[in-house]
Amino acid sequence: WESLEKTDKQVFDIMFKELERQRNGLELIASENFVSRAVMEAMGSVMTNKYAEGYPSRRYYGGCVFVDEVEDLARERAKKLFDAGFVNVQPHSGSQANMAAYLAVAKPGDTIMGMSLSHGGHLTHGSPVNFSGKLFNAVSYGVNEETEVIDYDEVRKVALDAKPSVIVAGGSAYSRIIDFKKFRDIADEVHAVLMVDMAHFAGLVAAGLYPNPLDFAHVVTTTTHKTLRGPRGGMILTNNEEIAKSVDKMVFPGTQGGPLMHVIASKAVSFGEALRDEFKAYQQNIIYNTRRLAKSLEEKGLRIVSGGTDTHLFLVDLNPMNVTGKAAEKALEKADITVNKNTIPKETRSPFVTSGIRIGTPAITTRGMTEKEMPLIADLIIRVLENIEGEKGEISQTKVREISEEVKTLTSKFPLYSDL
Ligand code: PLP
Repeated sequence: WESLEKTDKQVFDIMFKELERQRNGLELIASENFVSRAVMEAMGSVMTNKYAEGYPSRRYYGGCVFVDEVEDLARERAKKLFDAGFVNVQPHSGSQANMAAYLAVAKPGDTIMGMSLSHGGHLTHGSPVNFSGKLFNAVSYGVNEETEVIDYDEVRKVALDAKPSVIVAGGSAYSRIIDFKKFRDIADEVHAVLMVDMAHFAGLVAAGLYPNPLDFAHVVTTTTHKTLRGPRGGMILTNNEEIAKSVDKMVFPGTQGGPLMHVIASKAVSFGEALRDEFKAYQQNIIYNTRRLAKSLEEKGLRIVSGGTDTHLFLVDLNPMNVTGKAAEKALEKADITVNKNTIPKETRSPFVTSGIRIGTPAITTRGMTEKEMPLIADLIIRVLENIEGEKGEISQTKVREISEEVKTLTSKFPLYSDL
């Protein structure tokens, strides 16, 4: 029984380089986080060895007594966390959760209606390049181009016109609180199922800092690895018994085979963490940090889409500095600051270039950074943007060295995985 370092030095070395990248850089990708040692330990465990098709006490394999125990624990903790009557913790990812949820409430060929990708929706909300746009007839709504927030009159208009079977609320780049009641009223009016994809803000919901979509949605999907700070994976929740039965069938055998029991064990650990008081404080700090960082960038001349944020993320309009999202992402990465380019409302550039970047603070807040650090982070970002010399994010070596040294000085004050 040899260690990875001894048996496969090649992979070990790559993993070590990734660890150092995470330690030394400023991680501002809104969908990323740093899990605890306990969450990681469960993922890298003997639970990975077990086949367990089916559900606790209804498996197609023997030897499932302990994986049953851990899946039951994950389900009970998730139900408590989100005040849900039913949960399926088996989806391998957010996309798989969405696929199973759609098929639980609609048939291929039905119309689904989600937020357009360019206004903040996710690929799985009906994009033509995704299964959701291929299996279903997808229509979309967006934000109001002036206010840059969801226009519920427009949502209603699209719904009345398209008569969808499913309306999806939620997205990947929307920084404001969504009015689930308004969505439910519209869904009821057109006899649609309301599905909320809370992947991004699930941690805020768990902490009571964002309205619980289960109060209004027929079915709720999520990832477990973003603000919720669990392992990579998905989950489906509902309070509707009929839908619950359908969801179980559509996860297995509908769209998946054997569940990833090591990931389910890890989900149980992360839900246990999310039930503690410290988690609420952590989510509150995410919101404080995000607001402060957005404000600091605004004070330095950038425009924040919709004028601010209620959540863990915001979109920056780079037009005031005449920089593209693509150039900004590349240049920031050279200085060890990770963000992603993003389209903004009234976008004039292609999705590969874009006029914006998306910024989130879940990961840096996990490291312990507070509002005090946000003006410095804004300053580092602005200095990179000011020094971009070309469309591909060219920036002088001297500047890169100077800024990445400052990034390293900052991150070294907030050690990450120091015992690894
Ligand atoms: N739903 C939303 C809103 C997301 O932002 C994402 C991922 O970014 C997903 C679903 C898909 O999750 P996964 O990458 O785990 O498939």
